[in-house]
Amino acid sequence: MLLNDWVTNASNRLTAVRVASPKLEAQVLAAHSMLVDRTWVLTHPEHVVNDLALEGLLQRRESGEPLAYILGYREFFSRRFRVDSNVLIPRQETEVLVETALELPVDRLKALDIGTGSGCIAITLKLERPNWEVWATDISSSALQVARENAETLGADITFRHSNLLEQLAGEKFDLIVSNPPYIGRNEIIPREVREFEPDSALFADDNGLAIYRQLAATIKDHLTPGGRVILEIGQEQGLAVSALYPGSEIIKDLSGNDRVVMWRFADDP
Ligand code: GLN
Repeated sequence: MLLNDWVTNASNRLTAVRVASPKLEAQVLAAHSMLVDRTWVLTHPEHVVNDLALEGLLQRRESGEPLAYILGYREFFSRRFRVDSNVLIPRQETEVLVETALELPVDRLKALDIGTGSGCIAITLKLERPNWEVWATDISSSALQVARENAETLGADITFRHSNLLEQLAGEKFDLIVSNPPYIGRNEIIPREVREFEPDSALFADDNGLAIYRQLAATIKDHLTPGGRVILEIGQEQGLAVSALYPGSEIIKDLSGNDRVVMWRFADDP
């Protein structure tokens, strides 16, 4: 079969299962299978393809498996992070959290990313601010393995700890604590692709998704230096509820205009 015909056919099949950018994804799958880039696919329409190899990838995508898991990577902040089904796929909205942290006018600080997953937040902070000391935790050791591998590939020196939230960090204090915790309520309706393929522990939390923000609010002061900041990603409906847990905090919107981040400063005075 000719490459161009395969792409047209695959694009039609992806349209039928409501993939949002079917043609682009068909081209990306073909490129991935043939170890070339998408430009090569676009410029070699007459190339004869091995459609058996391609069919396997296409069927995975048709079944709803996210493209990032099939490819094994996702771009975040212009860098490529390896992902597998042990970690949440980095989302563009999370770049708002990272940008908010990068705006802090501090040359040197000690930062912690709680629930690092693929490591995309912690690693980006370290690479963008090499003078910062960056720590990262996750409750999942298989997620930590992915994060460590990304840190090594991208050349980021991070201190990793296997920990449920702050439990294994007794005595450690930070100038900045960031997190994109699980915040989806257990009964919320979310895309099947997300619910069926991404790790539950990275998505869902009790109390309509607010449980982790509550748990953190109870212990986080023990781990902050005076004036330390907390920057949390939130669900778009959670701005008021989360800012109430962190009195005096500020809500920051994402590019779509939705509440996306809560930033709080720990004022160490009575
Ligand atoms: N932002 C993710 C989503 O909407 C959820 C990730 C999270 O709960 N932190 O799919």
